[in-house]
Amino acid sequence: MAFHTIVLGVGTMGAATCLELARRGVRVLGLDRSSVPNQRASHHGGSRIVRECYFEHPDYVPLLLRATERWGEWERSARAMHLLHAGPLVHRSGVLYAGPAGSDVVERSFATGQAHGIPCERLSGRELRARWPQLRVPDDWAALHEPRGGFVRPERAVAAAAALARMHGAEIHEHEEVLGWDETATGVRVRTDRGQYEAESLVITPGAWAPRLAAQLGVPLEPQRVTVGWFAPRAGQEAACDAARLPAFYVDRPSAPGFYGIPASPDQGSPSGVKVAFHAGTPCDPDAPRLPPTRDEAAALAGAVHAFAPAAAGRATAFATCLYTMSPDGHFVIDRMPGCTRTWVACGFSGHGFKFMPAVGEALADLATQGATALPVGFLGLARFKHENSG
Ligand SMILES: Cc1cc2nc3c(=O)[nH]c(=O)nc-3n(C[C@H](O)[C@H](O)[C@H](O)COP(=O)(O)OP(=O)(O)OC[C@H]3O[C@@H](n4cnc5c(N)ncnc54)[C@H](O)[C@@H]3O)c2cc1C
Repeated sequence: MAFHTIVLGVGTMGAATCLELARRGVRVLGLDRSSVPNQRASHHGGSRIVRECYFEHPDYVPLLLRATERWGEWERSARAMHLLHAGPLVHRSGVLYAGPAGSDVVERSFATGQAHGIPCERLSGRELRARWPQLRVPDDWAALHEPRGGFVRPERAVAAAAALARMHGAEIHEHEEVLGWDETATGVRVRTDRGQYEAESLVITPGAWAPRLAAQLGVPLEPQRVTVGWFAPRAGQEAACDAARLPAFYVDRPSAPGFYGIPASPDQGSPSGVKVAFHAGTPCDPDAPRLPPTRDEAAALAGAVHAFAPAAAGRATAFATCLYTMSPDGHFVIDRMPGCTRTWVACGFSGHGFKFMPAVGEALADLATQGATALPVGFLGLARFKHENSG
């Protein structure tokens, strides 16, 4: 066979998998229906928060620590290959979490930080404001500062991973859509709008198109449309809103979706300003025309910026939409495809997957070549849904 592994979807996790396989000398073919990177999937918009304290679930932390190591290695490799002309992959601006006293987000983040020796500092709302007057939260709120956190440039990371993968011998076909796949007696077969390929194993990483390409999962995954906005700093607040002085932040709002922001930085290009969004979306068809944010959506974002990040409450410079792929419990799905022996799937990243990109790529490369991985991804397997169903 011409290839050992085919990777279906060369976005965030697919590009990482192509790189991790190719650098091991594995013959890999990556197929993406769009360009790599692209603006139609889930890895555009210029920035994604990275952090190690993890309120979502403590079992993610070992994967995050691995991802931090690998982000550093990727950064060095990409720089050595002159792939980072526009700026770094990761900015270590720090991350702030804030919420009403007892906030789950703050308390669980702190607990994971304590358990794993991740540098982090508890603050009151008053102390947060004294140190970062760009932000506004009530005096009696709780907060946490994680100095090692920050944000990654997603398009740059996907482009660098794909370029490094190609340098290591990966074949990556852009604008080639996978129409179907199956396992044969000796391997896997993938049909595209240009032809057919065979390989010994298949990794399926189609993001929001998982319901279509990984229906065998039997897990209801929901693509969601998410609105983001960029706001210019108020006059005189430009330096205060730069990543050199303002950490990324996540506000745990009472009875409402979380609100987060990512500081401005000279390497961000267009759109400029502080990027903000709610950690929530509305169900959508990923192939439907992308409607721009409604007036109400734009007003809600502007209102949250005024309330929590007044230094960034200048004019809106841009709005955009992106795609979450929600799993039923908000946790990722990484496992062998049911009924298959050589096909692996990673999807349902539920709006918080990007920071794991290098670690997920490594785990998928292990699975595709050895059928197992030492990385602790077992808690993300399908067994948890069977358990729920059986009651
Ligand atoms: C607005 C927004 C903000 C976010 N913020 C954060 C954050 O701060 N921190 C964080 O960690 N995460 C964040 N995320 C989540 C993170 O970006 C995603 O979890 C991650 O990008 C998902 O990666 P993926 O590989 O599953 O999907 P994608 O990166 O979308 O890759 C899927 C690829 O599959 C391709 N494909 C699909 N169907 C086919 C087919 N038939 N044939 C060939 N190719 C196909 C697509 O073209 C695409 O390139 C955010 C997401 C959004 C939308």
